[in-house]
Amino acid sequence: KKWVYFFANGQAEGKAEMKELLGGKGANLAEMTNLGIPVPPGFTISTEVCKYYYDHEKTYPETLKQEVDEALKKLESVTGKKLGDPNNPLLVSVRSGAAVSMPGMMDTILNLGLNDETVEGLAKLTNNKRFAYDAYRRFLQMFGDTALGIPHAEFEKALEARKEAKGVKLDVELDADDLKALVEDYKEIYKKHGKEFPQDAYKQLWAAIDAVFGSWMNERAIKYRQINNIKEGELLGTAVNIVTMVFGNMGEDSGTGVCFTRDPNTGEKKPYGEFLQNAQGEDVVAGIRTPVPLEELKKFNESVYNELLNIMEKLEKHYKDMQDIEFTIEKGKLYLLQTRNGKRTSQAAIKIAVDLVHENLIDKETAVMRVRPEDIEKVLHAKFDENELKNVKVIAKGLPASPGAATGKVYFDAAKAEEKTAEGEKVILVRPETSPEDVGGMNAAEGILTARGGMTSHAAVVARGMGKPAVVGAEEIVVDENALEFRVNGVTVKEGDWISIDGTTGNVYLGKITTVKPQGLEGPVAELLSWADEIRRLGVRTNADIPRDAKVARDFGAEGIGLCRTEHMFFEKDRIPKVRRMIVAKTKEQREAALEELLPLQKEDFKGLFRTMKGLPVTIRLIDPPLHEFLPNDEEQMKEVAEQIGISVDELKSVVEQLHELNPMLGHRGCRLTITYPEIAVMQTKAIISAAIELKKEEGIDVIPEIMIPLVGHINELKYVKKVVVETADSLIKDANIDLTYKVGTMIEIPRAAITADQIAQEAEFFSFGTNDLTQMTFGFSRDDVGKFLPEYLEKGILEHDPFKSLDWEGVGQLVKLGTERGKSTRNDLKVGVCGEHGGDPRSILFFDAAGLDYVSCSPYRVPVARLAAAQATI
Ligand code: ADP
Ligand code: MG
Ligand code: MG
Repeated sequence: KKWVYFFANGQAEGKAEMKELLGGKGANLAEMTNLGIPVPPGFTISTEVCKYYYDHEKTYPETLKQEVDEALKKLESVTGKKLGDPNNPLLVSVRSGAAVSMPGMMDTILNLGLNDETVEGLAKLTNNKRFAYDAYRRFLQMFGDTALGIPHAEFEKALEARKEAKGVKLDVELDADDLKALVEDYKEIYKKHGKEFPQDAYKQLWAAIDAVFGSWMNERAIKYRQINNIKEGELLGTAVNIVTMVFGNMGEDSGTGVCFTRDPNTGEKKPYGEFLQNAQGEDVVAGIRTPVPLEELKKFNESVYNELLNIMEKLEKHYKDMQDIEFTIEKGKLYLLQTRNGKRTSQAAIKIAVDLVHENLIDKETAVMRVRPEDIEKVLHAKFDENELKNVKVIAKGLPASPGAATGKVYFDAAKAEEKTAEGEKVILVRPETSPEDVGGMNAAEGILTARGGMTSHAAVVARGMGKPAVVGAEEIVVDENALEFRVNGVTVKEGDWISIDGTTGNVYLGKITTVKPQGLEGPVAELLSWADEIRRLGVRTNADIPRDAKVARDFGAEGIGLCRTEHMFFEKDRIPKVRRMIVAKTKEQREAALEELLPLQKEDFKGLFRTMKGLPVTIRLIDPPLHEFLPNDEEQMKEVAEQIGISVDELKSVVEQLHELNPMLGHRGCRLTITYPEIAVMQTKAIISAAIELKKEEGIDVIPEIMIPLVGHINELKYVKKVVVETADSLIKDANIDLTYKVGTMIEIPRAAITADQIAQEAEFFSFGTNDLTQMTFGFSRDDVGKFLPEYLEKGILEHDPFKSLDWEGVGQLVKLGTERGKSTRNDLKVGVCGEHGGDPRSILFFDAAGLDYVSCSPYRVPVARLAAAQATI
């Protein structure tokens, strides 16, 4: 087995495709060498050695030493230098590098090979004693720190002391003798820690190799892999690159820098980077001296500048992606020390992917795969001004429930929030948790903050639907509605105080922060998404209850409404009394009278929706929540409401009591309501069908309403309600003497419905998986209570994902798959969609595509994300 790969002078044993084996850095050093780009010669010890090292109690494969010795000999021969030779010493860097870039997480040692003798040799050869001793003291420092674990700070202290003694501020003001004395100080530090600095260069080399392999398991690196979701065993380990040193600190004709082939912030096609004259690599990163913009290099050495620009272009064409490059200039000669695909902002990721297609470097599929769904989401939401963010304090952290940044004055009451907004104030609505009655205030507010609730709590779902930033479940916050303040970690925030919330991170800040407008669906994002549309198979619809949301979704590319929740329309101020009268009605006649008043209002709602959607399919779900949600539950409100609807407080109380359920989510809701009160289904059907008829007659808009019956578990439930719907609809259509098609279908959200989907499809003309309820009932997890235990489940690794956020493939997903198959086996043109929160989640969309669904439906602001994710699912 081969463990070591050599590269020098235009020829390398490795290549870019060998990333896994040689790490990103090693593979690209090899590739650049083969491309004829100037790279200092060296060799790479493979990642397999790292794996061996940890599998065998930190020992190496038998033949490794021999291979390293051979590579070292070759290196000595191509450089004409010798490791440890006082007259002509070979100096190397020993650098880590895994297959996935983990910038700065592992160790690198520079200037290895220096000792008391070779430092003198280097001084003579370069005729620069100061340089030689500077290199030596840097090596002592890095070696002591990384290979022997002596705290970095001790060396810094000694350096500071030397500068102080001499009365200077900058490192460069120390001369050769000062640095030589500093070397002795450093050696004392070694002694103080009971360590010895190995004068033998060969021993140094192996100690450095040990250190780099050791750094694979250091805390920082482990943490980095955790945060970035790199699983144990996914990578073999780190490689070790041994590279001949080139010196950017040999004088004014030398320097070092970092550059990107395009602007990593904006994506603009123009070289971007920084450069530092007379410096060694770490100086740039360590921020000790301030580097100058790359263009300055042109003044300093135009031919090197042009050479670098040529290489940047060559590398970008070769790798077909934006490159992040490290370079060093030694006495006017340019060397490349690293190249990799550069990290970039979301905005830049999109622009670069689109530009590369226009430049014929990549195809549309590749561009679509290069952009992460989060990138789309990020560019569509407002962000805080980065500079201001540095000066404000995070006072609490909650769940990042609905992305975007918002700033405003705190109000605790939804009605007041509406009022203040109308007066032109910016408002953040702060609630212990929200209920349907807060919707008006939520809509008016810039953003929403709640102390309780999870990712699918009312506040979270509604906020996402509205595209409003929201932070929910910020448990440390104590909301005191009476005192009109909230308290958190020793801070008291009063009504009218400014706060800012970031629904992308979950951070809550004290004070006002300027928000920066999103760029919207134009330019590169729009173009990229149009390619996604060409590629994807899944349709993308939206969940929208009102024309404004529907309009937003259409502008974002929605191809229809997959879920209109009719009950949301009932919560409006002027309607809720009518709804309540309907609920407290004692007789069918009374109820019908109340419904009669609601009918024209609902009809107008639907006309608005149909008009906005201009003939695209619109799925409308009949009433779903338990009726008690429409009634007040505290004493004070009871009085008000009783008065409003003209009954006594006692009567109202007794209705509320009657409606009380121990387990409302499994109680009297969904189709169970319309089975008890068919007149509600009649009214809603009338509203839907007559809206469609009127639009067709008056405005010539063709609508195909899809009426959806929720919470069906048994085919007979569907049969019963469907009959009511069909009789009502057909008689209206007949009276209108018009041709109108409509469909009746059902939600599949109860496990029994998924299992008996073949039967249900006999009645249902379409399915829509309600994966929120389906997840709740399949796991038996109450959506509203998961906050109590789910975080621990995730922490302890019992579940990998929050199943309410990202579909549980093995369980709930199987029901979706089975339900789809069984449904389509009965009715092969059955349209099947999904309308839970999962409809906008990329990982879930991957599954829905494979399961053969026809479309996903998600909140308006997730429509662009879903378009991209659906395309990625097919590639
Ligand atoms: P990281 O992975 O943390 O970027 P590197 O291995 O790239 O670590 O090393 C950090 C810096 O050290 C490089 O950017 C470069 O400037 C400098 N460096 C590494 N090897 C050499 C070398 N052979 N000659 C000169 N400078 C080097
Ligand atoms: Mg680097
Ligand atoms: Mg449901």
